[in-house]
Amino acid sequence: MKMRPLLRASLFGVVLTACVLLWIPARAAELKTKNVFLIISDGFRWQEVFGGAEQRLMTKELGSVKQTNELAAEFWRDTPETRRAALLPFFWSEIAQRGQLFGNQNKGSVVTVTNGRKISYPGYNEIITGSGDPRIETNDKKLNPNVNVFEWLNDRPGLRHRVAVLGTWDAFPYIFNIERSHLPIWPHWESKFAAHAIQAPTAVSDFMRDNTPLWHDLTYDSLLINTATDYVKRKQPRLMFAGFGETDEWAHAGRYDLYLTAAHHVDGFVRRLWELAQSLPQYRDKTTFIITADHGRGSGLTDWKDHNEKVPNSEGDWLAVIGPDTPPLGERTQTEPHTHSQIAATIAALLGEDFHAAFPKSGAPIGEILRHDSK
Ligand SMILES: [Zn+2]
Repeated sequence: MKMRPLLRASLFGVVLTACVLLWIPARAAELKTKNVFLIISDGFRWQEVFGGAEQRLMTKELGSVKQTNELAAEFWRDTPETRRAALLPFFWSEIAQRGQLFGNQNKGSVVTVTNGRKISYPGYNEIITGSGDPRIETNDKKLNPNVNVFEWLNDRPGLRHRVAVLGTWDAFPYIFNIERSHLPIWPHWESKFAAHAIQAPTAVSDFMRDNTPLWHDLTYDSLLINTATDYVKRKQPRLMFAGFGETDEWAHAGRYDLYLTAAHHVDGFVRRLWELAQSLPQYRDKTTFIITADHGRGSGLTDWKDHNEKVPNSEGDWLAVIGPDTPPLGERTQTEPHTHSQIAATIAALLGEDFHAAFPKSGAPIGEILRHDSK
C-alpha cells in the first residue's frame, strides 16, 4: 500500500515526460523564426541601456570628456526615457515597441552572467556554450575545449554552412575554436585560421592594410558592420554572430564620450542589419535578433571603467530581443531573473533545436521571448 502513491507518481512522471517530449517539437514547428543574429556590444552597461548617459561621467574629470557641451547636446536629456532614446534610438523605438528588453535592475528585471570572472572570454564562452567553465579564467588565447551552439547548429539539417562568426577581437577564433568548429570567421587574424576566413569587401581590406591601428588585438566596429552586411547579402547565413568591441575599449581607456559614441554606433549597426534583413526574402519576418553584452562593469565614479570579479555589479547585464516569435512587451519589469547561460539554448530553440537536452549543463531557453511559452 505504501508503494502505491509512489508508483502513481512515477507513472504520472512518465506520462508527463512523454507529453513534454511530444509538445516541444510541435511547438518548435510553430515558430516563425528561421534565422538568428546574436549581436554583442562588449562591456556595454545596463545602466546606459536603460538610463542613457550618466551626467556625472560626462565631465573632463571623471569621463575624460574632451567636448563637454557637444556631448551633452548629443546625449543629455532631462529624463532617463529621453536620454536612453537619444543614445539608442533603434532600441527605444523599434525594439521597445516590437520586442523585449531585460536587465533594468531599477525595475525588478535582473540579467546576470554566471561565470564568476566577469571578463570577456569567460563571458563569451558562457553565452555560446550555455554554461560558465571554471577552467576558463582569463582572456588568454587558448582554443576553447567546449562545443558551442554555433558549431552544434552548423551540423544540423538546413543549417550546414549557414552559420558565421564576425567579431572584432583577436580572441574570437579561439573562443569559437575555429580549428575544430571550422566556422567561417572574420577577421581570422592568424594564418592557422586562414582556411576559414570570410572575405571582406575590398574597401575594408584596403583600410585594414593602410590604416594605423589603434589597438593591436582589436579592429574597428565600422569595418565589422560593413563586412557583416556584405556577407549577409552574399551568403545569407541563418545564424550569425556579430561581436562589436569598441564600447569596452573606450570604457577601459576612461573616455566616457567615446564609450557613448561607440554605443550609439552599435545601435545604428543593429538598425542597419535589421533593415537589411527586412529587405531580403530570406530574412523578412523570419529573423530574430538577440542583442547583449558579455559582462557588466562597475557603477561607481571610477569603477565604471572596469569589470572583473572584484568590481561590484560586473555581473549585471542586459538582453534585447526582437523577432517574429517574441511578444512585443517592450521594457520588462518585475521579471524572473535571467542569466547568460540561457542564451545558447534560446538561440537553438528559436531554430527548432534542443541544445539544453544535448548539453544538460546549459541553461534552459528563455520562454518569455518564445511566443508559445508566453501567456
Ligand atoms: Zn573589458
